[in-house]
Parts: sequence; structure tokens; C-alpha cells
Amino acid sequence: MEILIDAHCHFSVFPINQTMGYICNSVTESDWMPILDLAKQNKNIFPCIGIHPWHIDTRSENWDTKLCNLLNNFPNIMIGECGIDKTHPSFDDQIQIFARHIQIASQFNRPIHIHCIHAWNEMFNILKNIKNLPTIVLHGFGGSPETLMQFAKFTNVYFSFGPSILDLTRTKIQHALQIAPKNRILIESDAEIKDSQNILMTIFNQIIKYIEIDKTQIYNNAMGILKNGQITQNTNAVWG
Ligand SMILES: [Zn+2]
Repeated sequence: MEILIDAHCHFSVFPINQTMGYICNSVTESDWMPILDLAKQNKNIFPCIGIHPWHIDTRSENWDTKLCNLLNNFPNIMIGECGIDKTHPSFDDQIQIFARHIQIASQFNRPIHIHCIHAWNEMFNILKNIKNLPTIVLHGFGGSPETLMQFAKFTNVYFSFGPSILDLTRTKIQHALQIAPKNRILIESDAEIKDSQNILMTIFNQIIKYIEIDKTQIYNNAMGILKNGQITQNTNAVWG
């Protein structure tokens, strides 16, 4: 199996490479419908809806009700991108909004795609208090090996490595990658769909300098998320 699934990318219009899969994240509510429309027309797009911590100020008053309604109407969609980021303002508000996302993910049992920057303790404290933790993807993982070990104790947490693995000065990410459970490693471009393929291949070629893993394993890991989250309808339509 040579198909690659980009575990975290962003909305853009064509071209979409039909031999790849894309877990496509929104950043604001205004992305939600375009992403869902794109996914309706392209069975290899796996849509996620949520509000990025940098964009929480754009949310509408009843954003969470809207999110729940869409999750009810579309049993195959996931939640993301959401999270907490200490390098950005309104950290307390970010925590409130993220906590609501994770509650909803737990309630609907949907995979959730998380952005976490310089806020690992806060993230751990939130997750450890959630009953029925859903499947979680820590996107663009940039933590230390110790952080990775701590989160790996949650058996349904996946670690998605992105362009920061290409920055050779960030050695702690390379070390984290080396101890990550192989069945929970993903790769991502964090780019727009149109730029995804080249970036993803560069990241894959970098990763195999540090660990022994093949594309099939990474593909299976990504499929594990899609299946855990009941995203089987789209998946079956593409790859049977
Ligand atoms: Zn992103």
C-alpha cells in the first residue's frame, strides 16, 4: 500500500491528488461548510470542523450548538482544529473553548485534532479529566520525549509529525519521534491541500532517517483513526 494520508492539512480548492487522502481541518466557522462541500465531492477528503485557538475571537455566540448540529447531521466528520497555544493571547478563553470542543468530541465519540503549543501541562490536565476520551491526534507534535511518553499513556492518542521535523535544530522532536509508538505515528503537511503531497514526501523521507517505518504502517495508523471515529462511509467509498 503506497497511498499516503496527510493527517493534517487545510482547506484549499483544487488540485486534489486523487491518490492521496487528506484529513482537512478548519480554523474558523466560516470554513465549515466549504470543507463539508469539498468532502461531499471528494471521497478522499476527511473533514474536520472546529475553531483554531488563534481564531477563537471570530466565533459566533452559539458556535458549539452549530458544531453539535453538524456532527449530528454528518456522522462521518471529525473535530478540528482546536487546542491551546500559550504564544497567543486570551489563553484562559482558549482553555474554555478547547474544553468545550473536547467535551463534544467525547459526547459524539469523534476523533479530535489538537493544536498544542507550550501548554502541555494544561493540555494533560484537561485530557485526564475527560471520561471516555475520544481518539486524539496531537497535530504538529513539537513536545519533548518526556511529553510524548506522558501522552502516550492515553492509548488513543496519536502523534502527528509535520514540517518541524525538517528543522534539524529541533532535536527534541527527533528524539520524541524515536520513542513514539509506531502504531500511533502520523505525518502531516499542515499546508493547503494543493501543497500537501510534496511536503508530505519530504517529511516521510526525513522520518525514515530516524526510525524504521514504512508507508503502509503510516497509512494503517491514519486509517485506524478514521475507523475509530466511525468515518467508515467515506473510507469504504475510496479504498473498499
Ligand atoms: Zn493546522
